[in-house]
Amino acid sequence: MIWACVLSGNLDRERYLELFREVAGRARVHLNENKDASLGHNFLSTLGVEVFVDIFQPVIEDEKARSALSVLRLIESLPDHALWVAFLPEVEDEQQAWSALAKGVFLATDHQSQQATDVRWLKLIFLAIIGRMMLPPDFVEELRLYPNHGDMRSVRPKIRAAEMSIRMMESGVEKPESVPQPVTEELWKELFRKTRCVPLPRESQAHDIRDELNLELSNLFDDISEHFFSQISNTHVDARCDGAFGLALYSLSLTYELANLPTQILASGRLLLRTQVELFITLAYLRMKDDLTVWSQFRVYGSGQTALAFLKTSDLTEVPDYVDMDKLEMLANEDVWMECRDIPLGAWSGKNLRKMAEEANVKDVYDRYYDWTSGFVHGHWGAIRDTVFTTCVNPLHRLHRIPYAVQPMPSVIKDCCSITNRILDELNTLYPTFKPRISAHKSDK
Ligand SMILES: [Zn+2]
Repeated sequence: MIWACVLSGNLDRERYLELFREVAGRARVHLNENKDASLGHNFLSTLGVEVFVDIFQPVIEDEKARSALSVLRLIESLPDHALWVAFLPEVEDEQQAWSALAKGVFLATDHQSQQATDVRWLKLIFLAIIGRMMLPPDFVEELRLYPNHGDMRSVRPKIRAAEMSIRMMESGVEKPESVPQPVTEELWKELFRKTRCVPLPRESQAHDIRDELNLELSNLFDDISEHFFSQISNTHVDARCDGAFGLALYSLSLTYELANLPTQILASGRLLLRTQVELFITLAYLRMKDDLTVWSQFRVYGSGQTALAFLKTSDLTEVPDYVDMDKLEMLANEDVWMECRDIPLGAWSGKNLRKMAEEANVKDVYDRYYDWTSGFVHGHWGAIRDTVFTTCVNPLHRLHRIPYAVQPMPSVIKDCCSITNRILDELNTLYPTFKPRISAHKSDK
């Protein structure tokens, strides 16, 4: 029904409805005997040129309609292309012709729009007047006098529902064999080849780099360090103290990086947010257990992974650039000589993050952040789609996806600051009293 979409997108409503009526009426005169008839391009392609021209006579005589429809000359995959070429004027300005088509397709893309409903009405009235479709008398009256009879809030949905029911006659099992299949895929392919993509730009996002927040974060690092020294009285390995302060400082350090980099509005910011969620749930779980064996398990697992990384990297013929082997060896041997340690595998607590969050009663944070941020870490399709593709808004391209570089997203900085504050609450429970919190992210300055 592209011809009808082009008319509905480019003519006044009153005028195109009038043309629809006239075309349907003339088609009935010619095709009344043909119960397979419809007004779609695939059926029209079966007509002889004289009949076709006579049916569309009112359109041919309307200069504006003719000129808008001239774009059909450019679409060679239309099954009735040759018939349109027979009477449509040459295209003078291709760009303008494609725009007329784009306008028609755009307005009909929402299948409930006024234009789409009007085109669907045309299909219905034609089947009703050639006697192919039997409808209740009230509805027939509403269709006949459309859009000036009955309550449009119910007439329009009725039209759409009835039109859905005739799809089987167009391309489904009820389609007459003499009528060719609609050429949907070839058509979209041709439109893609002949018109350009139009990327939908992302809304710009300001990354929020503020002196006030930076100052607060760096002061906080000093405050936590000071609090750490106030809690230790000797230099032995203390898995509880190192673990609790370490998790808090690591989270703070990531927040500081985010606060200073455009990363906060990019995909990599989501990776860091996901890490902070894990830091928080881990600390909340450790605080809930508050058992020296569990604190030690956390540390031994991490050191074991460091030893494993050292051993595996040592076996490589070429060490990756980012690894400092001397440092890695030192870390791997720090608590215990590597030769004397077991290397535990699996999750350090024997539980997944969700289970830990439930036991520590912090499932709220897990539910708020875990799923979507994890997609970014693991390279799931949703995150890929969100990061490197945008929608092409050329209506002739079916809203497909096209690559788009460096797309800003809403900043993660406020969420990261809130999670870091929750981590500081845990630290305060384990090592009272620690009161400083991040507050600069809350102001809208
Ligand atoms: Zn495109």
